Amino acid sequence: MTCKRYLALLNEYVECTLPQEVQDDIRAHMETCPRCRVFYRTYSLTISLSRRAESTCCISDDQVDRLRTLLVSRLCKK
Ligand SMILES: [Zn+2]
Repeated sequence: MTCKRYLALLNEYVECTLPQEVQDDIRAHMETCPRCRVFYRTYSLTISLSRRAESTCCISDDQVDRLRTLLVSRLCKK
């Protein structure tokens, strides 16, 4: 599991739509990679906040997408 692959799969991981062995790979990667661990925390928090805000419409899907793109670009920057 590389960081790039991890990032590509993270959305499905958060949605729990990946096969068990892929989820295990992702978890194993997070244990060895602090940056991806931080990214996961930030990302899942964003998702849960946006879900909670759905009825009051604070964050749109579009904004979540943009935030995700921003986080990915920050994380991948050396
Ligand atoms: Zn990583």
